[in-house]
Amino acid sequence: MAKRLRADVKKRVKTLVADCGITPGLAVISVGDDPASKIYLRNKLNGLADVGMRAFEHSLAGDTTQEFVLDLIHKLNKDRAVHGILVQIPLPSHIDIDLVIQQIRPDKDVDGLHDQNMGRLLSQGGLVPCTPLGCIAMLRDQLGDLSGLHAVVVGRSRLVGKPLAQLLLREHCTVTVTHSQTRNLPTLCQMADILIVAAGRPKLIQGEWIKPGATVIDVGINRIQTDDGKIRLIGDVDFDSALKKAGAITPVPGGVGPMTIACLLLNTLQAAVTAQSNRI
Ligand code: NAD
Repeated sequence: MAKRLRADVKKRVKTLVADCGITPGLAVISVGDDPASKIYLRNKLNGLADVGMRAFEHSLAGDTTQEFVLDLIHKLNKDRAVHGILVQIPLPSHIDIDLVIQQIRPDKDVDGLHDQNMGRLLSQGGLVPCTPLGCIAMLRDQLGDLSGLHAVVVGRSRLVGKPLAQLLLREHCTVTVTHSQTRNLPTLCQMADILIVAAGRPKLIQGEWIKPGATVIDVGINRIQTDDGKIRLIGDVDFDSALKKAGAITPVPGGVGPMTIACLLLNTLQAAVTAQSNRI
């Protein structure tokens, strides 16, 4: 599905270039050299190149000051070739991520994390965080109309759980949001027609917790060391036992990750189109 979405974005980029002379451009800022961030960053840059978008890479040293990052964002806000700005998380602890995100122009905030975009989740419009957007696209593709289905979201982060809950409400689901203080998590999970897990806890969800036939989306990415010393990526759901109960389930890796990148490309295209129509 991610491939299909990327192919569609690529076609629309081609049209935008041909008809309006506009190449969507995304600025990606990273600070320091977190190894996982480097991999995510590389995947994003490859995705941009693949669909014919421009990438403006700003890989900054770990001791870069907050002031420098804020100055850079102010410059990128004004740059008409830059339609989207993404700040790779995590940032070093001397940089206030909330402050940084609030400086990004909301119409260039392709991660959908600015307060204005977060607020718009309660109504319509605005840029929607990429991972939740990808989850909803997969659910619609798999299930069609989601009205009346009971969706249980495990995790309430600003990046995933909270925006997902709002998007599921828009789809007319009945939504239960659970978190680290939730009591009786297995019982709540067993009530889910749709179970979306974003807790960052390896194999938290067991097969017995899943209602037969439920659709399960595993957002979690956990790095674990295997007995032979290698690093392996696993999700928050115990995939093998869940497979026996679920109607459909996303794998880790290769499920939500590629959809997140495809949705980032989609958001960048949307930002470029909006910038163009505001200019006309
Ligand atoms: P986070 O740490 O910000 O939030 C985790 C949430 O899970 C919290 O709300 C916490 O209350 C809840 N939680 C923790 N332990 C729990 C438990 N035992 N029972 C119920 N709830 C529990 O994390 P995040 O940024 O939302 O990311 C979650 C996971 O998703 C991570 O593994 C992250 O790497 C992954 N992720 C993947 C993608 C992707 O593109 N595939 C994108 C974003 C995040």
